[in-house]
Amino acid sequence: MSVTLILACAGKGERAGFDKNKLLVPVAGKTCLERTIETFIKNGRIDQFIVVASKADFDYVQKLCANVATVVEGGETRTRSVMNGLELASGDVVLIHDGARPFVTQRLINDCIDTASRYGSALPVVPTRDTMVSSASYGDESVVRDYLGKGGLYQVQTPQGFNTTKLKDAYARAGEKIYNDDGEVYKNHAGDVVLVEGDVDNLKLTYPEDFDRLYPIKLCRVGTGFDCHRLVDGRKLILGGVEIPHAKGLLGHSDADVLTHAVMDAVLSAVCERDIGYHFPDTDEKYKGADSMLLLKEVLAIAERKGYKVASVSACIMAQKPKLLPHIPEITKNLASALGITVDALGISATTLEGLGFVGREEGICVQSTATLTAVDE
Ligand code: MG
Repeated sequence: MSVTLILACAGKGERAGFDKNKLLVPVAGKTCLERTIETFIKNGRIDQFIVVASKADFDYVQKLCANVATVVEGGETRTRSVMNGLELASGDVVLIHDGARPFVTQRLINDCIDTASRYGSALPVVPTRDTMVSSASYGDESVVRDYLGKGGLYQVQTPQGFNTTKLKDAYARAGEKIYNDDGEVYKNHAGDVVLVEGDVDNLKLTYPEDFDRLYPIKLCRVGTGFDCHRLVDGRKLILGGVEIPHAKGLLGHSDADVLTHAVMDAVLSAVCERDIGYHFPDTDEKYKGADSMLLLKEVLAIAERKGYKVASVSACIMAQKPKLLPHIPEITKNLASALGITVDALGISATTLEGLGFVGREEGICVQSTATLTAVDE
């Protein structure tokens, strides 16, 4: 059995508030279209990829999909666009999927292929959670027209799977009428449409808030970092870019800002970019006495090149002396500003080690840190 995928990407994406098609705006280094295609490639059961693009996006989409998919031009309506893609479909089963649903799972793809292959059709749905009503105009306001209830009502998703020959026949009989989706064309002109269990996470990115909230959460990264420096006479004690009055300071090739180092390692780790020793080796004279706040700037640029920005940071300073409590607000303010986050997104705590070990003997200071990063639009 062979499978064709048709990705519908010919919409204009105007509701998402972008000046171009929302599927073609990179987030965390990749467009929604690329993420969606990658998921289907990973599935391993798709033999033919067809992407339907609008005339305006055609060249760009063709560049994005080079060597992966055949790109065809869409029509005025979704029905017309799918028909254009369907003409080229050669698989026994065809899956039709919204390009704006990048969170489709392998379980759902497999269920749709298997059900369509067995019964001729597969329509993923999720039961509605809230009571549904329809509305009617009432002067300038809207009023309830009908209570539709909540039992037995479903939201329809994609991918929708079909026996290719049967769907082509259905479309041939559909004429110029506009349909909600391919399931409706099949139901009207081919036969019963079989429901499969959809996925609540398989959302269609439609509105600006989908990109601002949902997408960053889905693509969120977490990293941890740890650092330790020896306390010696004749050095400054710098924490988070702030000089703390103390008889001793931290020893290191750079300014030995142990807090900023642990935070930088957490940020680098979140985007799988090794650690500060890799990027700023202590064998390099360039970094002798380096201001760690400047290195932090470089680290943030590395994360941004990977498509991420820092959302929040947490750090715990382990030091027997000096007492850090009075300095935490200033350290927080300075480091948050350098990280490009607000003070309420940077939690810094300090603890002694009750006199235990090398920290307890005031031989050194350690910091453990966690950073949360979210995806950024490019
Ligand atoms: Mg260090």
